[in-house]
Amino acid sequence: MADDVLIVGGGPAGMMAGLLFARAGVSVRVLEKHADFFRDFRGDTVHPSTMEILDQLGMLERFLERPHDELDTARIRVAGVEYVIGDLSHLDTPAPFIAMMPQWHFLDFLRDEAAAFPGFTLEMEKAVESFVEEGGRVVGVRLTGGKELRANRLIIAADGRSSLVRSLGLLAVETIGAPMDVFWFRLPRSGDPGDALRGSIETARMVVLIDRRTYWQCAFLIPKGSGEAIKARGVDWIASEVRKAFPDLDFSGEGGLTSSADLHLLEVALDRLVCWHRPGLLAIGDAAHAMSPIGGIGINLAIQDAVAAANILASPLAAGDGIDHLLDAVQDRRLFPTRIVQAAQKAAQEAVIGRVLGGAPITRAAWPVRMLDRFPLLRRIPGRLIGLGVRRERVKSPNAHR
Ligand SMILES: Cc1cc2nc3c(=O)[nH]c(=O)nc-3n(C[C@H](O)[C@H](O)[C@H](O)COP(=O)(O)OP(=O)(O)OC[C@H]3O[C@@H](n4cnc5c(N)ncnc54)[C@H](O)[C@@H]3O)c2cc1C
Repeated sequence: MADDVLIVGGGPAGMMAGLLFARAGVSVRVLEKHADFFRDFRGDTVHPSTMEILDQLGMLERFLERPHDELDTARIRVAGVEYVIGDLSHLDTPAPFIAMMPQWHFLDFLRDEAAAFPGFTLEMEKAVESFVEEGGRVVGVRLTGGKELRANRLIIAADGRSSLVRSLGLLAVETIGAPMDVFWFRLPRSGDPGDALRGSIETARMVVLIDRRTYWQCAFLIPKGSGEAIKARGVDWIASEVRKAFPDLDFSGEGGLTSSADLHLLEVALDRLVCWHRPGLLAIGDAAHAMSPIGGIGINLAIQDAVAAANILASPLAAGDGIDHLLDAVQDRRLFPTRIVQAAQKAAQEAVIGRVLGGAPITRAAWPVRMLDRFPLLRRIPGRLIGLGVRRERVKSPNAHR
């Protein structure tokens, strides 16, 4: 028998939407093309706004039992000097810090929690190739290999920034643009390095490090389209640039970046769909709005989309009512925060990243950074924006299993 809802993609948006619909008594099947969640390039930040959602679901305690680091200040190193630019510790929320947890652990957690609801099914290694349409409505998906799966009521595209709704031309994309791409690789980590997240900005060099306990996950920003040229300089050059950016850290140890096969080029995109839906189909998360890594907020925006979609659609779905006329309300609810966050990411790209990677000399931090460092009270403003975002959602979809 067909499920009520099919979700394409088991990332943060798809897994949270699956969990919430199943919790509301709707039968839902999540289709994920990979065999597991273990992929390096997913980002590691779970923000207070997401942990608020987990708290409302009664899951926060179990989430925090999983291995993670807690970060309640945001720091950045500019031209060799360290500045504190954000303080989350004063936020009035159950978890006033960023939980640094590799995304595959977070997705494992959502899978384990969702498994408690009988309507939830997750199928791994199920790559969707196209959608099935009948009478102007999307009614199912076609998997690689040709098999068709139908949904009684709704298909959700949560398949990220290369979503099928984009590549098949089902929904039009409005490009905002990003001046950078990212080389993503590991370097060995020794000693006790302190902060779990570090950033460094210097003339023509920007690097972010995430402490994954046994190694550093490095994000090395490069001008868009320059991947091959940078690769040609060799992995030793890239590793030495990271060492120069963080002279206080000990990178000694085995493994890490030994050949160009260890370098993953991630193409950064900043865009959104003009319309996020058509009859029978709704896009959420990066599928609806590809986020730049700036601020590390894409995961959290994706989660908030899932909550909004469930708030608006779960009860009518559970009651067997039509929902096509409600899809626009989901876009309407989430477009405002998306616009604000993307505008902020674009501003940061233009004011900082484009200039730095373009070679503009960086001799000291810009005045807003110095002001934040100097006046601790001011740091609460970026702390609030990063931690709680704009228009945070509250879980209103019902729990049919209480
Ligand atoms: C370099 C980089 C670093 C980032 N770092 C961070 C960070 O630290 N913190 C943060 O919050 N955000 C970060 N982001 C942004 C963040 O990764 C995204 O905003 C977020 O992952 C979006 O979640 P999602 O569920 O919408 O999509 P995704 O996480 O992209 O998940 C989509 C899922 O769909 C699956 N899928 C795709 N196509 C198909 C198909 N045809 N059939 C079946 N399954 C399919 C994929 O395998 C994937 O599991 C970063 C982005 C980049 C580019």
